[in-house]
Amino acid sequence: MNDLFSGALSRLDEAARHVDVDAEVLEKLKYAKETLSVRLSVRMDNGSRRSFPAWRCRYDDTRGPTKGGIRFHPDSNVDEVTTLAFWMTFKCAVMNLPYGGGKGAVKVDPHTLSKSELERLSRAYVQAFAGMIGPDRDIPAPDVYTNSMIMGWMADEYGSIVRRPSPAVITGKPLPLGGSLGRDDATARGGYCLLRHLEGDLGLTGPARRVVVQGYGNAGFHIARLLHADGYRIVGLSDSRGAILCEAGLDPLAVQAAKERHGSVTAYTGDGVRTGTDDDLLATACEVLVPAALEDRIHAGNAGRIRARIILELANGPVTPEADRILDEAGVIVLPDILANAGGVTVSYFEWVQNRQGYYWSLKEIHERLRVIMETEGRRVWDMHQSKRISMRTAAYAHALERLSSAIAAHGTQPFFIG
Ligand code: NAD
Repeated sequence: MNDLFSGALSRLDEAARHVDVDAEVLEKLKYAKETLSVRLSVRMDNGSRRSFPAWRCRYDDTRGPTKGGIRFHPDSNVDEVTTLAFWMTFKCAVMNLPYGGGKGAVKVDPHTLSKSELERLSRAYVQAFAGMIGPDRDIPAPDVYTNSMIMGWMADEYGSIVRRPSPAVITGKPLPLGGSLGRDDATARGGYCLLRHLEGDLGLTGPARRVVVQGYGNAGFHIARLLHADGYRIVGLSDSRGAILCEAGLDPLAVQAAKERHGSVTAYTGDGVRTGTDDDLLATACEVLVPAALEDRIHAGNAGRIRARIILELANGPVTPEADRILDEAGVIVLPDILANAGGVTVSYFEWVQNRQGYYWSLKEIHERLRVIMETEGRRVWDMHQSKRISMRTAAYAHALERLSSAIAAHGTQPFFIG
């Protein structure tokens, strides 16, 4: 068993100590229901063929069709896919969305492909997994290094296979193909709504509201933009090439423009701006640290240097279980991924509902519905954190576990049949 997945299961075991769950429920949640591994064979522009390993995992579908993104990344592997699908299972349960958890990936560096090669790869993925996905079975979405354009190709390919347009098979599509308003910044907006709602509880009402963002992609850029507009001071940002730091505060839109022109936030210059490493970034004093890059970036080796009071996890699994213990002892409050970044899947759910209704909502309606769900579930997790004196992460898992447990038990567990 790999570290990422065993780390994920250790959070489940911890949560199980705080809620009344049947042993059969826990046993069921420790294994993926179904995982398919394939190799995608794709024609390159130069006429050659290359093959890429690819996976789709449906971890648990007790609460509804499985839901989860597709990642294109050179380090992807089946264990990571399984772990991400496990997290999706709990994320959908925390938010009370009528879904189970799934995930997919292709082991590829998409930056090395031309646009037409990327299209052929995306279509090949759907051809391989067409029997596994479907609007009532398993609904993919974008993840790291996949985007709305790719989702559009995939929806189109699925429609060709089933011989009818089937927009509800995939979410995160472009608007003209049945995408939802508000999907682009949904992950960040969900985290923002959660933070805003808990500001009083977290002691974030004073003038010192400094923010550091690790990873300046979709989630990182939008959270910086939303918090900056609200008066928070962005004192550090990073991407895979390095970090920029500025005590006086950075303008997220100007940094994004520099990144678009030159490929990295490190190209941004200005008064008081200095470049640094990821370690410099994490050691920057701030009230809120937002990990928005990849898994395991905060670990036993660097957690002790963190000088944030609150961590808002927009990335999936950015803090290892060992780092969690270090942060907990230091009194840092971690708003966990399965709650803090659930805005993305929530607006994906809205997209699926709109596709099935054939009736589309305004941006205002989307923002309002997202805010209500984030606040309702965020408050439930906060109350459990307070009443049981457990971390926000354990509370989020325990809250999700209660929902999963009652759904699994409703199918009948041993006590139901025997006694
Ligand atoms: P993205 O590809 O748009 O951005 C990722 C960013 O992280 C890029 O700027 C990249 O340069 C940066 N990065 C990579 N390695 C880094 C490192 N070592 N240090 C600093 N920065 C690094 O991806 P995204 O969609 O913003 O997703 C980011 C995270 O959020 C992932 O963990 C993803 O699973 C999670 N997430 C995203 C969504 C969504 O809707 N986009 C939803 C839920 C969770």
